[in-house]
Amino acid sequence: MTRLQPTAVYVHIPFCPSKCGYCDFNSFAMSGDIVERTARAIEAEIRRSPHAGTPAKTIFFGGGTPTFIPADSLAAILHAVLEVHPPIEGCEITSEANPGTVDSEKFKRMRIAGFNRLSIGAQSFHDDELLRLDRVHSAKETRSAVCAARDAGFENINLDLMFALPEHSRSRWRRSLESAIELDPAHLSLYCLTLEPNTRFAKLAQRGELMLPSEDEQVTFFEDASCIAEAAGYRQYEISNYARPGFECRHNLCYWRCEEYIAYGPGAVQRVGNARWTHIKHPVAYCDAVEHGADLACERETLSEAQLRLERIMLGIRTTEGLRADDCDVNREGAEKCEAKGWIAIEDGRIALTAMGRNFCNQVALELC
Ligand code: SF4
Repeated sequence: MTRLQPTAVYVHIPFCPSKCGYCDFNSFAMSGDIVERTARAIEAEIRRSPHAGTPAKTIFFGGGTPTFIPADSLAAILHAVLEVHPPIEGCEITSEANPGTVDSEKFKRMRIAGFNRLSIGAQSFHDDELLRLDRVHSAKETRSAVCAARDAGFENINLDLMFALPEHSRSRWRRSLESAIELDPAHLSLYCLTLEPNTRFAKLAQRGELMLPSEDEQVTFFEDASCIAEAAGYRQYEISNYARPGFECRHNLCYWRCEEYIAYGPGAVQRVGNARWTHIKHPVAYCDAVEHGADLACERETLSEAQLRLERIMLGIRTTEGLRADDCDVNREGAEKCEAKGWIAIEDGRIALTAMGRNFCNQVALELC
């Protein structure tokens, strides 16, 4: 199974200090022995990988909250990844970080271990909003986390922010974004809050106890995001992502280009060739399976060419580079319709969203399929 083609590698750390009201990620508010046991199990899974020897193009630790676990555990897991997947020159090695779980010392140890990029979950620069989202940190702690990261030698820093929060106003969103930009991160991820089933927020909304902005207001927040970020020198290279030149997230670009990815850890999803599978999600069941050498998959699927084509279109159209019409065999009639509406531009066989089209990304994707 070893391939020479460098591949993106993902590691899922499934723990968080507490569960945020809007979150449907595979994350658990657990502590104690299970944390250390899971870290050891992830390391063991990596060391017995059938893909050992495949070079790493990018490495990404996500979650959950990777920085919830001790720096030594993160370093041990990364060490295993680097041994099993020799990194290519300039390999981007990212960890997500929650400002409430980090300090200078932890960042320094992570930098020494080999991480060279941080994605910090700021979400808002208003403390009342952070409280409402169940975040465990304040805006001041986000600012301190960015300083600590720079102190530790991280230059490539992303800040995550969310808009269209409950009762969110345009002026508050603009202030949050401007506060983020004042910290001069290399990258900004600006997401619209979405209601996911089975979350605390979804239950509140069902009872009519959560006032979320309308779709029109969401479009205004999104347009404000583009204007403010681009005026500050960030280029929008994907619907929700902005970067200083050269700081686009290479790991996420692999996903949007529909490339393969190898994954480890509870709940992590991997796709190699047309085989996609999901790891057992609960940390205890995952550890049991690793320790007994059992199958780690809880779901497996074989993607047809038609499914892969759909994914290439749905993901590729999100990026500014767009997609090659021929590679994806797009629906020509649908493309002409979108072009006539001014939603896409077609140039040298490449299809990309226009500024107006970014507001209709999902509709465009459906037309092209
Ligand atoms: S910190 Fe992130 S992963 Fe953890 S519960 Fe909150 S949103 Fe979910």
